[in-house]
Amino acid sequence: MYGYAGRVLRVDLTRGIITREPTPEAVVRDYLGARGMGAYLLWTEVPKRTDPLGPGNKLFLSTGPLSGTLFPGAGKMDFTTKSPLTGGYAGASMGGMLAAELKYAGYDAVILEGISPRPVYLYIDDERVELRPADAYWGQGSLTLEKRLKDELGEDFQIATIGPAGEKLVKYACISHDFGRQAGRGGVGTVMGAKKLKAIAVRGSGGIPIADTAEFVRLAREAYRACKEAEGLEAWTRYGTMMVTSWCNENAALPTRNFQSGTFEQGASIYASVHRKTIVVTDKACFGCPSPCGKYSHSKKHNIYVEGPEYETNGMLGSDLGLGDIEDIAKANQLCDELGLDSISTGGTIAWAMECYEKGILNREQSGGLDLRFGNAEAVFDLIDRVAHRDGWLGNLLAEGVKRAASAVGQDSEKWAVHVKGMEQSAYDTHSATSMLLAYMTADVGAHHNRAWAITYDLAVGRDRVTPEKAAKVIELQHIRPLMDTLGCCRLQWVELGMPLSCYAPALQALTGVQRSWEDLLHISERIWNLTRMVWVREVEGFGRAWDSPATRFVREPAVGGVTDGKLTPPLAAQQMLDYYYEQRGWDANGIPTSETLQRLGLSDLVGDRSAWR
Ligand code: SF4
Repeated sequence: MYGYAGRVLRVDLTRGIITREPTPEAVVRDYLGARGMGAYLLWTEVPKRTDPLGPGNKLFLSTGPLSGTLFPGAGKMDFTTKSPLTGGYAGASMGGMLAAELKYAGYDAVILEGISPRPVYLYIDDERVELRPADAYWGQGSLTLEKRLKDELGEDFQIATIGPAGEKLVKYACISHDFGRQAGRGGVGTVMGAKKLKAIAVRGSGGIPIADTAEFVRLAREAYRACKEAEGLEAWTRYGTMMVTSWCNENAALPTRNFQSGTFEQGASIYASVHRKTIVVTDKACFGCPSPCGKYSHSKKHNIYVEGPEYETNGMLGSDLGLGDIEDIAKANQLCDELGLDSISTGGTIAWAMECYEKGILNREQSGGLDLRFGNAEAVFDLIDRVAHRDGWLGNLLAEGVKRAASAVGQDSEKWAVHVKGMEQSAYDTHSATSMLLAYMTADVGAHHNRAWAITYDLAVGRDRVTPEKAAKVIELQHIRPLMDTLGCCRLQWVELGMPLSCYAPALQALTGVQRSWEDLLHISERIWNLTRMVWVREVEGFGRAWDSPATRFVREPAVGGVTDGKLTPPLAAQQMLDYYYEQRGWDANGIPTSETLQRLGLSDLVGDRSAWR
């Protein structure tokens, strides 16, 4: 099977049994790999309504066909599971070096099932695969352990770890790798912690079979050339995603004080230029990347090194918490990375708590003595640590995520709990950006930006407009961007450098020997999107339209300050966008794919009678 390692590793943690299976050809034909394979495995292998933290849930690591090849940015893989944060589908993409190493070791995917009776780590060195004791590592930070395992096993091992947050089952714990790359969202690290799996160490010495090597190399070269000649390469490489900060602030999209505003008055002090000038030490790239967006930084003020902050972290641990010092944000970033917390959810949850505090709903006693006013960096550092360790009443409460925390505290605090489906919204204010609002409402993991980054489209066509074309754009992006995750490559060469979409299908064909047009690939992406939707239908009792509701803040409470001052999206406008979206997707008025849609996408046999899952 060209383009694939040809085997899947199955690890039964309960019994300590490791087996190898052939990579199923029909699955890679219909779902390609990575995100697609993860969705398929989640549907077929995890029983309905399984406890996300119980032995029935599984964690799937899956690479794509392009992962580990010469194609630009081909260092991506996916982690898929049933989310302990939302109760629905969780799929988190991760860059770095692990995807390539796993394929070189001879595995397209790893299925982690059961729960180990004691802490272990998974050791993979080509054919030698073992579960090794990890009692001595339990309690260690993600970055610290990665360094330690590299020292013990060898620099050429690629390592993924969880930190104390994963061990303590914080609902939004992440999986860390390469000293700053994360599978961040939805609690994939929580599931790893529940399985008592502290780390995965991989070394591989094999290769990837290619159907037409000469043609593949030619196409990969061409794609690299397109990146290297791109006008935006210099600025992108200099600043990475931090470039977005100034644009967001000027356009009232920078989350500020728990999304009360999209404009941060101290914004200029956390712009990319300040970051670069004051703390960036060097650039850092994932496997095979021609445009390194990683910015490795050193804060003298706090005496820490960290990869970052990148834009999302800058927004959610910076302006959204009222922090206007880039070194403080870097420190909060480093704490999240070391403790194993998703920085987006951490920021969103702490921002909610700060607003509660300023509104007098949480008092000093409940905060454990912390003065939780926006802008208090020391309180943020302290609280991040308490959350990761579930320390005290507030640390334990916030470890559950903003939806559960608000529901426990009540007193109308749900109104400023900024989430969709229980996932904290990432760093774009959507008071006045109806496409981006819809993108958050319908993203298949919850309020995450990476499925459809539509906010520039809002500005181009009129940010408050409510049109079918906007819903169509969101759908188009929801097929293209997740397709990159499915193929196992980074989307940013396309998004930021304008690498043509026409590069992908021919390269995949030369790699796998299977002829597929770009439209064929989009059709597969749509199939995967609908399968992840059916995971929600199956896993969440009564799932439907209400789960696609936007965060209340954007439809009930006007933005404060900046170019969107006084604006919001009326609730009916948000519902109208949803109507357009459902209609174009072929879903019913409750947001469930119709039988015809499942049939058209070749999902009927897999899913069966859709009504049976309700
Ligand atoms: S652009 Fe950034 S995220 Fe994408 S492959 Fe390069 S370093 Fe990794």
